Amino acid sequence: MDKKTALVTGASRGIGAAIADRLAEEGFFVVGTATSTEAAAAIGERLGDNGMGVVMQLRDRDSIEAAYALIVERGNMPVVLVNNAGITRDNLLMRLSEDDWLDVIDTNVNGLYRVTKPLLRAMLKERWGRIVNLGSVVGRMGNPGQGNYVASKSAAEGFTRSLALEVASRGITVNAVAPGFIATDMTADLTEDQSAAMLDRIPLGRMGQAQDVAGTVAFLVGDDASYITGQTLHVNGGLYSG
Ligand code: NAP
Repeated sequence: MDKKTALVTGASRGIGAAIADRLAEEGFFVVGTATSTEAAAAIGERLGDNGMGVVMQLRDRDSIEAAYALIVERGNMPVVLVNNAGITRDNLLMRLSEDDWLDVIDTNVNGLYRVTKPLLRAMLKERWGRIVNLGSVVGRMGNPGQGNYVASKSAAEGFTRSLALEVASRGITVNAVAPGFIATDMTADLTEDQSAAMLDRIPLGRMGQAQDVAGTVAFLVGDDASYITGQTLHVNGGLYSG
């Protein structure tokens, strides 16, 4: 197979699905992950000859190892990694259970370690690689009721900066993309009042679409971004500018 392989975690829906579709259009063989066999099969159908779907549970090292074994059996280890999968479990700290704190940190932070480390060897051997981690605008702004999630997204940015320094000399770039308020399942639970209040704060006057984020990820893994590493690109309609 002469195409480069890209792994996109959480490609069953939302931003991850848009990233997987976009990278397939850009000419990558895309491996998209989901947490169920049904959703993984649907990813495979969607991508057709340009990719495959695999089951991967970020909270379970065995599941990640099994996914990598399957990927190697069918093709090449990915040299592009998009750490997209993530969860929220919102509550004010006074009401936040330890389980909800731990679920978010285990998925959004420990998952970065579990997924990224096994892929570094292939990228180092290739002396080329692209890693993009999904942060969030709230990782910079803070957000009441999201202390666990905000901590995890700030961590993703710190991880990005450190890893970028570790692997830059080997031709591997590591960047983060921090979306603002994007229309997906993750934001679908907001009440009309919450959505209206959020829209009021967005200078471009609309929610972002998953494709807005996918385009930025495609840029970062493409040749035009080869001199960019350790950065966070904000995709938020002007909601936050540093
Ligand atoms: P989403 O629609 O809720 O989709 C989440 C994806 O992550 C799904 O594919 C899901 O797989 C997967 N996933 C969830 N838990 C997992 C686990 N334990 N192991 C493996 N995969 C898991 O989310 P989204 O809105 O597209 O968000 C994607 C990324 O962008 C996240 O990192 C999120 O924090 C970030 N982000 C989103 C927004 C926004 O406004 N939407 C803003 C800022 C940042 P299944 O379908 O199998 O459950």
